[in-house]
Amino acid sequence: MIHHPIIKVALPVPLPQLFDYLQAEDGSLTPVGSRVLVPFGQRERVGMVMGHATESALPANRLLRIIRPLDQSEPLLDPALLKLLEWCWKYYKHAPGEVVLGALPPALRKAQGKLPPPPVHYSLTLAGRERLEQAAGRQKTQYLMLEALQAGTSGAEALSGIGSQWRKTLARIMEQGWVEQSPATMDPPVFLPGPQLLDAQEKAVDQISRDLHHFHCHLLDGITGSGKTEVYIKLMEQLLARGRQVLVLVPEIGLTPQLLRRFRQRLGLEPAVIHSGLSSGQRLEAWAAARAGRAQLIVGTRSALFTPLPKAGLIILDEEHDASFKQQDGFRYSARDIAIKRAADLNIPVVLGSATPSLESLNNAFAGKYAWHRLRERANSASLPRWRVLDMCQQNTFHGLSDTALEAMSEALARKEQVMVFLNRRGYAPVLMCRQCGWYGSCDRCDARLTWHRSAGLLWCHHCGSRKRVPRLCPDCRADGLTGAGEGTQQLEEALEQQFPGIPVLRFDRDRTRGKGVLATQLDEVLKGQPCLLVGTQMLAKGHHFPAVTLVVIVNVDQALFSSDYRALERMGQMLQQVAGRAGRMDKPGTVILQTLHPEHPALELLLTRGYEAYARWLLEERQLAGLPPSGYQALLRADAHERSDVEKFLSEAIDLFPPGDASAHGPLPAIMERMGGRSRMYLIVASPSRSSLHSQIDQWLLSLRKLPSARKTRWSIDIDPQEL
Ligand code: ADP
Ligand code: ZN
Ligand code: ZN
Repeated sequence: MIHHPIIKVALPVPLPQLFDYLQAEDGSLTPVGSRVLVPFGQRERVGMVMGHATESALPANRLLRIIRPLDQSEPLLDPALLKLLEWCWKYYKHAPGEVVLGALPPALRKAQGKLPPPPVHYSLTLAGRERLEQAAGRQKTQYLMLEALQAGTSGAEALSGIGSQWRKTLARIMEQGWVEQSPATMDPPVFLPGPQLLDAQEKAVDQISRDLHHFHCHLLDGITGSGKTEVYIKLMEQLLARGRQVLVLVPEIGLTPQLLRRFRQRLGLEPAVIHSGLSSGQRLEAWAAARAGRAQLIVGTRSALFTPLPKAGLIILDEEHDASFKQQDGFRYSARDIAIKRAADLNIPVVLGSATPSLESLNNAFAGKYAWHRLRERANSASLPRWRVLDMCQQNTFHGLSDTALEAMSEALARKEQVMVFLNRRGYAPVLMCRQCGWYGSCDRCDARLTWHRSAGLLWCHHCGSRKRVPRLCPDCRADGLTGAGEGTQQLEEALEQQFPGIPVLRFDRDRTRGKGVLATQLDEVLKGQPCLLVGTQMLAKGHHFPAVTLVVIVNVDQALFSSDYRALERMGQMLQQVAGRAGRMDKPGTVILQTLHPEHPALELLLTRGYEAYARWLLEERQLAGLPPSGYQALLRADAHERSDVEKFLSEAIDLFPPGDASAHGPLPAIMERMGGRSRMYLIVASPSRSSLHSQIDQWLLSLRKLPSARKTRWSIDIDPQEL
């Protein structure tokens, strides 16, 4: 007989274990996957039951009881998802509770949070209609609600517009028998047929369709505009018809109204959307709909990866190379890698799509581990853009734009076409400096210059977010000679307005599109097709379709050519291909002008003359020679503290404790930006030819690291398969 059943609970605290609790005195055992409220320290916390046991390492008198279970009817998370989360915390060496609770929609991380009931539809009964024929009387709100229902309003969301007491009002009029409820059925959106597939698309759809019943990883390697999204849609159709769910993950920036509209129209259903920009209520609603199997198509960013999918049939990752699939703080995970793991666990296919696949995925395709589907032609018969490389040593410039580029721009505009100018730097100027003494605005907390945001009158650190007002005079020499050096998107916008009066200039960067609806409005504006200039950062490089753009000007990419980060060239290649992919999508051929001080750089030359695949093969060879990923495996031990000496001490002690084996640790090395947010940041790099030794040695290492007194003076974490240094 079990006297003290123990519940093993994951709690959202940065500790590497589960916590043992006793079941509440009266209750039966709370099932695995359900939330419980427990006492922890001085507080009450929401935890997730991960397992049961009959004994605990804690003495019986130190075991606390749970306060109460929170999910009454059934567990919130299914066993497959729990198993995946457990794999995640072990693989990424992160605190279990942070992984598990972080996978829940924010509303369910609180004790009051509960699953919303399925949406219902309210309608007037005969009695209700009769009531409306009489005067409103004293129950004004009730009457208003009846009127609203008569006018066609029917869901809870619409009724809530009546006022904060709407639930009470609704309950009253239902008691009266004036209103009845039925399960909501959505009117299917208008359904539009798709185009006839091209041979390459057809072949990809056929091959993947043959494999829909079991796990396989497919790389859909198709140039921009080759119709990858059409392939996804054809696959979705098949799965949706069988009642299976499809999860589509897109980059943070890729979740556009255009994409959702396309899914809605082509599939005739409303996608459930999950991303961090939603209100917590909306997010919970979408999550619950997926969990209940009501939502068949779930579209979201990285965090949607952990949505429960009881009828999972397919996972798609669009733009799989995109950096936003890697979470860069807290629980540092790769959504791509976990998506593949999840598909393997569920024995369903996963499709990774990109015009510029990551070297990791290409390597797997080259090796035959992934099925490799290539789409090499544009679906709408647009030709690929022509490249023009401009040697900036030989050009006159106006705010960073060469005469040649300006001339090409005015020609394109004269032909009533659109032009895109790409610069990966927001703000007005990357530096504000003094012409007299050379002073420049730098961040007190980072090794970084402050970006001048002229319209806001601010100097802004793009790394830690700290800001200062722009000084009127030089803080050092008091001269009235402050001036911007270099260009940001705001300055380009101004310069272009000056240069091309009467032509609309639309800026796309984080500052401009922060406001609600701004991005959608501007995108609609561009899609009208009138001549205009688009100026922007990365945001322009991703996922949008701009059929009238025929000229792309890339202002500057030279930084990447000489970066100390070995991934910089991979990212540069992807970025150039992606930006170029925005040009000339319809009948008009496009041109891409690349301005550089290093036109003879071998990487640029290879990319532009032989294309991304040849470029990627060359980068992979280089990585292989150096034993770098994907030819080897890496992890970082990152640490930061106010005092550099504390970081150095911890990391030097840590490296001495690294257990022997195939994997080895190197460092300490300073982070590429060593000082950030007022803290010194350094790391050790662990490299290994084998994944399993990397993991077993790090697991062993962690046991001793946690005991190091110097560890307590720093903030440290492990980053498995790191993407940045
Ligand atoms: P990708 O996702 O690879 O960038 P899309 O699927 O968005 O490509 O297709 C690019 C454009 O070509 C879209 O406007 C799309 O409607 C169109 N398109 C895709 N497939 C076809 C096809 N088989 N025939 C005609 N047009 C197509
Ligand atoms: Zn000065
Ligand atoms: Zn800063």
